[in-house]
Amino acid sequence: MARTTPFCIKCGRTNTPLIEGMCPSCWLEENKLVDVPRVLEADYCRFCGSVRIHGKWLNTYDMGEAVLKVVDAYTKDVKPSKQIIESIKVESIEFVTQPSWRTIVKLIVSAKIRELTLTSSYDVEVRLRPSICPRCIMRRSGDYEALIQIRASRKQLSKLRRIVKVVEKHLTDDIAHDIVNVVDNGNRIDVLFFSKGSAHKFVSLMKKYGNFIEHKSYEDVGIGRGGSRRRRMIISLHLKE
Ligand SMILES: [Zn+2]
Ligand SMILES: [Zn+2]
Repeated sequence: MARTTPFCIKCGRTNTPLIEGMCPSCWLEENKLVDVPRVLEADYCRFCGSVRIHGKWLNTYDMGEAVLKVVDAYTKDVKPSKQIIESIKVESIEFVTQPSWRTIVKLIVSAKIRELTLTSSYDVEVRLRPSICPRCIMRRSGDYEALIQIRASRKQLSKLRRIVKVVEKHLTDDIAHDIVNVVDNGNRIDVLFFSKGSAHKFVSLMKKYGNFIEHKSYEDVGIGRGGSRRRRMIISLHLKE
C-alpha cells in the first residue's frame, strides 16, 4: 500500500504545513482571523470635529484622526474568530479612501496558529454620523458652566496683557476646547467655560504667571438636565497692585 503524503484538501499542494487540512493560503480564503464588522459607526460633531467613543466625546484635529480613533477603539479588544487561533495582533491601519463621512480603512492583522504566523487584511467602512456635541450645543446657545472674570486697574493694563500672552502660549488643547466665549475689554476680560474642570485649570495657569487675588462664587441657573439644581461658577481674578 502506497503511503500518501499530506496534501491541501483544497488546492492539492503537498510539502506545506496544514491547518484543518488546508495550506495556509487556502485556509485564509476559507476563514477570517477576526470577525471584523463591515461597518463601524460613530457620532462626529460637525462643529468642532470631536468624535464619540464609548459614550465619551474626544477631541480630534480632523476626520482622519476621528476615523483612527473609531478603529482604535474597535481594535483594542479585537478577538480571534476561531479557537485554534492563539494570538491576534492588528499590525497596521491604512486609509484606502480619503477620510470623509464614509471612509474605507484596511486593517492588517496577524495571528499565530501553532508555530505559523498568518497575515491577512480586511477592509472596514467607518461611518461618521453628523452630530453636535454637548459642548457645541452650549457654545451655540451662549450657555456656559463657569465664568472667569479677569480684572486689572488701568495702570496695570500692560502687565495684564503680558500675563495673558504667556498663558495663551501654555494653554493646552483640553482647556482651549472648553472655552465657550471670550469677551475682551482690555483690562476686563471674561472667559466663559463649558466645564468647571477646565475653568479651574485655566485659573491655576493664570495664577502661575500672575499674582492674582481670587474670589469664587456661584449663581443658580435653574434646573439641570438631571433634575438637580444647576449652578454656575464665577471666579474673579484681580491682578494685585
Ligand atoms: Zn491549498
Ligand atoms: Zn462639538
